[in-house]
Amino acid sequence: MATRKERVQSYRDYVARCKSSGDQFQPFFCPHCRFDLEAKVPGEGDKCDSLATCPTCEGEFFYVSLPGQVQVHVPGRRPMNNQEVMSFLLGEGSIHPLQEAMVIMALEQYCEKVASQPEGFMQNSGVDEATWRSLAKRVGGFLQQRPMVDDKEPDDEE
Ligand SMILES: [Zn+2]
Repeated sequence: MATRKERVQSYRDYVARCKSSGDQFQPFFCPHCRFDLEAKVPGEGDKCDSLATCPTCEGEFFYVSLPGQVQVHVPGRRPMNNQEVMSFLLGEGSIHPLQEAMVIMALEQYCEKVASQPEGFMQNSGVDEATWRSLAKRVGGFLQQRPMVDDKEPDDEE
């Protein structure tokens, strides 16, 4: 039986061979262990889908490679919803300071971008543009001029 290292190596070799014969690949993650994987990008009118086994964790999954994205399916599992992603990213208490900075910067930029879009940019998206704009304004303003709190260290109990 191949070791994990051998499996990963033969996977990398396979991808490299396909690439050298002209196939395009796009990145995605193993849904079980988040290992970096790559899927063949389908040619015009083609569809790349397959049952696959992760070379690292040997977990199985089904994937569909579409132009620009890879959809991954595991029976009995579903992707996190927005609320779960938020608490995963922000609610752990042990968040890396760079991750905090990244999230704040990304939000700031996004809110600025929304403000600079022409009227009607959310047309046909199914999203209520007025609500979206007012949320972006509120969140953006919040970051631009932050609300004040008591100037006291959090564990500065008296
Ligand atoms: Zn895996």
